Amino acid sequence: MLIILIPLIVVNIQNKDKITEVNSDLLNSGEKNMSTEVPQPPPEKKVDELVTYKGPIDDLNYYDYMAENGNVHKLILDEKGEISTYSVNPAGEEVIAYDNEIIPILEQFIKKHPDFSFQGARGIIALTGYSGILGYRTNELTSPNYEKEKNEALQVVNRLKETGWTFASHGYGHLDANKIRYNTLVKDTKRWKEEVASLIGPTPIYIYPYGSSVQEKSDKFTYLQDRGFHIFFSVGPAPYLKINDNYILMDRRHIDGLAFYDQRDRLLDMFDSNEVLDPLRPDN
Ligand SMILES: [Zn+2]
Repeated sequence: MLIILIPLIVVNIQNKDKITEVNSDLLNSGEKNMSTEVPQPPPEKKVDELVTYKGPIDDLNYYDYMAENGNVHKLILDEKGEISTYSVNPAGEEVIAYDNEIIPILEQFIKKHPDFSFQGARGIIALTGYSGILGYRTNELTSPNYEKEKNEALQVVNRLKETGWTFASHGYGHLDANKIRYNTLVKDTKRWKEEVASLIGPTPIYIYPYGSSVQEKSDKFTYLQDRGFHIFFSVGPAPYLKINDNYILMDRRHIDGLAFYDQRDRLLDMFDSNEVLDPLRPDN
């Protein structure tokens, strides 16, 4: 599957001597005054739109359909307290691994190449809530397993934070914020706050599902700002970054299956998806 070959992508990016994240302090602070707080990267590093690569990893929730398609089932802590992955393979055996998910892969890589990470920054993990988080069914509030699931999820969350990972909201139900009604967005956001923010803590980052967005100055946008979100990520084909006094808007390049199969040329400055796609993977 695709993810096995992520190290190749990471190495390609590393070789281009570009920096992985500009601004971990800003993203962690939740401060409203954005324009004065951007720390400067070392001058020998070039910063360009690739910052968005290292940016968010969406939907690290391990939805049921993902396990069926060969994704890992959840993130766990190994006996040393490090992040690893847990899955059950088709033979029914439990597998604990470090080379089949972006987080442990990146951690292993940074151990060898510490300069890949500016100021110790890692990526942003964008979570929904409707199927729990990180492989734990924290959405099943009345389940007898709820406390156990919640506590295990919290341990993983805390370790990720210690390591430098940041969290973002990806909405509760992965709804298209542009299409849904105001009241639906309110309900969705409340539920996200109750079930997800209660575990990961407050975050100023909102990553629109489907790469969509809501109009600036709309009721929905004002509502999201009132709820503490000041950094909004969408998806776009070209670099886009707008920094206001009160909020940041940024488009991301989507490095996903769609781009790998149908938009290879848009990724060529980083890597050739033909070289990265696993030949064992069935044609899309
Ligand atoms: Zn998503």
